[in-house]
Amino acid sequence: MSTPNTDFIRDFLLELLQTPSPTGNTDVAIELVEKYCAQLGLETYRTPKRSLVAKLPSQKNAPAITVASHVDTLGAMVREIKGNGRLKLTMLGGYLPASVVGEYCTIETASGKTVSGTVLLTQQSVHIHGKAEMNKLGANMDNLEVRLDARTTSEEETKELGIAVGDFVSWDTRTQYTEAGFIKSRHLDNKAGVAASLGAAEMMIRSQQTATQPTYLYFSNYEEVGHGAAAGIPADTEELLVIDMAPVGSGQSSDEFGVSICVKDSGGPYDLHMKQKLVKLAEAKELPYNLDVYVHYGSDGTAALFAGVDARVGLIGPGIDASHAYERTHLDSILNSVELIVAYLTQT
Ligand SMILES: [Zn+2]
Repeated sequence: MSTPNTDFIRDFLLELLQTPSPTGNTDVAIELVEKYCAQLGLETYRTPKRSLVAKLPSQKNAPAITVASHVDTLGAMVREIKGNGRLKLTMLGGYLPASVVGEYCTIETASGKTVSGTVLLTQQSVHIHGKAEMNKLGANMDNLEVRLDARTTSEEETKELGIAVGDFVSWDTRTQYTEAGFIKSRHLDNKAGVAASLGAAEMMIRSQQTATQPTYLYFSNYEEVGHGAAAGIPADTEELLVIDMAPVGSGQSSDEFGVSICVKDSGGPYDLHMKQKLVKLAEAKELPYNLDVYVHYGSDGTAALFAGVDARVGLIGPGIDASHAYERTHLDSILNSVELIVAYLTQT
């Protein structure tokens, strides 16, 4: 049957969401994707920047299509070990500091050991600081600190735990799959997109649908800091189909159920011809889709174009509510994305 494999997509996504991959520390997540590619029988290679490329079987020798999605996520890095033993952080990627207040986190030390903690305001207790004083506080990276789940009250004691400046910090994703089919988690941007890319490959292989053109899956690892797909896109690529999240909320036409086709973001319009083909295919397959404009948004497509890639670039993906905070989407949005990717890659 030529339909997405719901169990495969959900199980892979839940496993990927449990695998920390803050920008700059993505090897374990890349290895996981590599393992799934191998199970599907796909050949893969790593680029020097340690992103991953997989090749799908295709019918002919022609310019290639590359389907790009990023495995890296938001996170943080230890900037300073404070005199009280707690940690001051610097952001990885762009988000509101308020969106991580109260979040559990994990610090990975140089030896690979992990220490858990909680992100708190430096003046967090209402019994000490009073509501009036606390109401005036806005969260910023200077008044946030990590309270470690270890006995430390000094810089020395924290250093003895093996923690050092430059250690990566990942957020607890608090992933939940609900009975109604919603997935609530941090980092659905863009792990839902990675699941859609891999889900499309799985569907094509299982149903023996061969890609019309040579096709690569490109899993980038530095998107959240802007230069992910700036390098490593296979040289014979003439079309780059980026799979990334669609922001859902006020003023947006995207939703958590259909597949979104982005027509413009902060980098300008996406390719008109690709958009027209995507719309035609979505209509022919009766897939619920939304055309949308993302104002405060850039993607791996933007990164590739500004780096000088000479290819047409399109962007589609699942709708994500509360992006770059505690996000949510519905499995249907990922399944509809899978179907549109497969329709695009197998069009005649
Ligand atoms: Zn993204």
